[in-house]
Amino acid sequence: MRSLLLVRFGEVHLKGLNRPYFMHALLRHIRRAVADVGGEVWLSDSRIFVSGADDMEECARRVCRVFGVHSVSPALEMEKDDFAAICEQAVGLLRPLGGTFKVAARRSDKRYPLDSPAINGKIGAYVLAKLPHLAVDVHAPDHRLDVEIRDKAYLYVTRMPAVGGLPMGTNGKACLLLSGGIDSPVAGFMVAKRGVALTCVHFHSFPYTSERAKQKVVDLAKVLSGYCGPVRLHVVPFTHIQMDIHRLCPDNLGTLVMRRFMMRIAQRVALTEGAQALVTGESIGQVASQTMEALACTNETVTLPVFRPLIGFDKSEIVERAETIGTYALSSLPYEDCCTVFTPRHPVTHPKPEKVAQAEAALDVEALVEEAVAGIELVETGATGAE
Ligand code: ATP
Ligand code: MG
Repeated sequence: MRSLLLVRFGEVHLKGLNRPYFMHALLRHIRRAVADVGGEVWLSDSRIFVSGADDMEECARRVCRVFGVHSVSPALEMEKDDFAAICEQAVGLLRPLGGTFKVAARRSDKRYPLDSPAINGKIGAYVLAKLPHLAVDVHAPDHRLDVEIRDKAYLYVTRMPAVGGLPMGTNGKACLLLSGGIDSPVAGFMVAKRGVALTCVHFHSFPYTSERAKQKVVDLAKVLSGYCGPVRLHVVPFTHIQMDIHRLCPDNLGTLVMRRFMMRIAQRVALTEGAQALVTGESIGQVASQTMEALACTNETVTLPVFRPLIGFDKSEIVERAETIGTYALSSLPYEDCCTVFTPRHPVTHPKPEKVAQAEAALDVEALVEEAVAGIELVETGATGAE
């Protein structure tokens, strides 16, 4: 007998002929996530199993964060022929629990001498005799003891929900504009969840934004890497651009012109990194630069598609997601962001393209973009699933 994790995958099931490709990626990411806790990972009978880690709880937490995993059950693997031992272990699993239970048996081995109802009945009766504090409720039990009869027998009472989605990298790569705010890490998570690998860009306006503001973004990228694996963060020096905008453009267009620079530079990074789209944390109407017209005006500067997974989310919904994925506390640290430096008092909400073009005519856009790209500092974050 041994303890292991039984891993269920979600949509990978639906992949038809491409399924081996998705399975291979999923296995690779689970292996990466558990490598340094000693987990051994294999595929058998349409299930993924993990065993051998020193700390199986930590191992389970990590597997739950791998995209493509639907749920995880810490299970006991036993020889299926020793039915008395199975009954005994069922008692062991249910002993610490109270209330009602049911046994839910499934056989993929149809030659097994007992069918599912017989397994349920026998184990249920044995448990009741040994644990009189429990009662059976087959309709709405507090606990469900699953017994799967495959090449071995597997017993478990918990299903830990996992992140779901599709294995990382099976749907290309995107470049996330990662600020230190609440929204953009959530936007990155949502795209990554669909199997898209991330590369990140952050705009940093030293000395107007501090070293610790940059560190906060590195830390946010590390949290994302806990799901995605190592993430490359491109830190772009943005001070010169912001100073020029502030000096040479009408104040009310400042934010918009700045956002257009962000998009152009992000696209440059995306193309060198082999990314096929840009991702931002914008949602309609959240701030002046996120009206329909303003979004159209920032889109104009790039040819790559721009994904905004939070487009229809209220702030409270974004906060909830940020808490769930573990970025909220970091995002809430009160450090300055380049967007808060030189914020116009009355930003336009309905920009006119010709006015924006006029404003930008005062700047040497190409040279500023070149200079910023040339000054990029690359930070590699997170080598394991631990962070
Ligand atoms: P967030 O919480 O993500 O900072 P926000 O509501 O503060 O969003 P804005 O500051 O207008 O919104 O930024 C909109 C989007 O632009 C962000 O979600 C992010 O994708 C990108 N962005 C803003 N500032 C930066 C930055 N300093 N570096 C990289 N991307 C940025
Ligand atoms: Mg922001």
